[in-house]
Amino acid sequence: MDANTLEVRLGNGVEYLGKPRCYFDPAVVRNSDIYCISHAHEDHLPRDIEGKKVLCSDTTLRCASSRLGRTLESSEWGGIEMKNAGHVAGSVMFLVDSGRRALYTGDFCPRDRLGMTGARPIKVDVLITEATYGVPRYVFPPTDGMMGVMRDWVEDSISQGISVALLAYPLGKSQELITMFNDLKPYLHGSVMNATELVASPDLISKCTPYSRETAKEPFLLICPPSVRNSNLMQYWKKKGLRTAAVSGWAIDSSFKYKMRVDEAFPLSDHADFEELMAFVKACDPSVVFTYHGFSVELASEIQRSLDIDAHPLIKNQKSLLEF
Ligand SMILES: [Zn+2]
Repeated sequence: MDANTLEVRLGNGVEYLGKPRCYFDPAVVRNSDIYCISHAHEDHLPRDIEGKKVLCSDTTLRCASSRLGRTLESSEWGGIEMKNAGHVAGSVMFLVDSGRRALYTGDFCPRDRLGMTGARPIKVDVLITEATYGVPRYVFPPTDGMMGVMRDWVEDSISQGISVALLAYPLGKSQELITMFNDLKPYLHGSVMNATELVASPDLISKCTPYSRETAKEPFLLICPPSVRNSNLMQYWKKKGLRTAAVSGWAIDSSFKYKMRVDEAFPLSDHADFEELMAFVKACDPSVVFTYHGFSVELASEIQRSLDIDAHPLIKNQKSLLEF
């Protein structure tokens, strides 16, 4: 590639300057060009909506419209396909084919797990990949083993008469936990209940009970977002002995548990870990890779070094690839 040519840059989300011009996970949706939303996590949703038409899955459209309080319309554009990203319900990658094939991964996870099918690599010329866990220390333990460890911890606590709260994002991880622990009939915090009603099957929803302090019978399992860890709700139950655990890939770092002020932390993630990122890039066999989000600089240099593929981190306001 000509080093003066930028075909991908950070700006209004990740901008692909090929034909057609696409904006992936844009901050602003306008009336012209093509706007693609990979999934409904807050940091991937637009802040401003001037135009209504977006390309995303039906599930993401439902969640985004609910979260933004605006009705978005889904559109189709020739030459762009959605592919399963395996991250959370409704998450997709975008494949742009205009002779030169480009794949934007959004957040993705290649592991099959708990009712989710993982993302599969696709042969492309240009790969634009997330780099959340893009350094070698982030290699997650096998999912089955980690689920067993979590179940032991939850069941041990409850058998001792101690209630537990699992802290996880309302969209994605929470539905995995509900699937994993549905036999324990968990209580769901309001935000988790809302997200579950938008994305889960009627069967799974029927196994969920909304949390209420008045009706909660101890000992219980509560699934709630990390944002409530210092709330009155938590303080009230902690005085009664409640144990808390955070569920996140960041739990690989031993300091995470202390930062989150929880009793336990379990490294269960809906992202690719470092080895999975590298294997995915290799299998896509691109001629150039762009990395963004998280450890983008480190991942790009590791791709360049160990896979010998031209790789560049995306950096805000970058004018030329010569800036590296
Ligand atoms: Zn996400």
